[in-house]
Amino acid sequence: MDIVRGNMGWIEVIVGPMFSGKSEELIRRLRRAEIARQRVQIFKPMIDQRYAKNGIVSHSGLEIRSDLVHTALEVLDKVEARTEVVGIDEAQFLGEGLVEACTRLADMGKRVIVTGLDTDYLGRPFEPIPRLLAVAEEITKLLAICVRCGNPAVHTQRLVASEDLIVVGATGMYEARCRRCFEPQLAHERVEAEKTAAEKAKAAAG
Ligand code: ADP
Ligand code: ZN
Repeated sequence: MDIVRGNMGWIEVIVGPMFSGKSEELIRRLRRAEIARQRVQIFKPMIDQRYAKNGIVSHSGLEIRSDLVHTALEVLDKVEARTEVVGIDEAQFLGEGLVEACTRLADMGKRVIVTGLDTDYLGRPFEPIPRLLAVAEEITKLLAICVRCGNPAVHTQRLVASEDLIVVGATGMYEARCRRCFEPQLAHERVEAEKTAAEKAKAAAG
């Protein structure tokens, strides 16, 4: 954001697949705000406890302390009046209240910086992030590197056998894939393969 007069707030969103550098970019922006001696508060969902309980950690090991919350409305409750910058990581896990919470914080004059997955393991829009994009002042879309072919990767490939929307995990459970190498049906195929294997084992035992 360039010229901002008075104490107007706004919403910045950083999206992209897993491993695209969203957390790194969030940490970079928040550190710079701290260097400018702004009052910063940082939140992440309780669901994502990989690596650190009280901090945001990127896949490359960068870290910044943060508060754990269950919902977006809890962020609203915890933000102090004097806070100038609010950072939220992995916001796709914070539920439907995200858009309202971010809008209210921005309306209160705060700079709100949010990261999230814009698509799910099937490549579909991952609500409520797409709705947040619609009301944001600034959107940064990052890409990872496809682990198969080295092209820019827009997708989060699930490798494990589950068809739940939310399966928390990192390396080994997910990898970055470009649109050519993306296999959205893979998770379903693995679920079916596990079922077949279980049936065969049962038949052999019986
Ligand atoms: P995100 O928050 O988007 O999941 P992070 O900021 O946590 O991403 O991690 C980004 C870092 O992950 C990169 O700087 C790089 O060191 C590492 N990394 C691991 N696998 C990949 C990949 N396939 N493409 C790009 N970066 C990767
Ligand atoms: Zn590829």
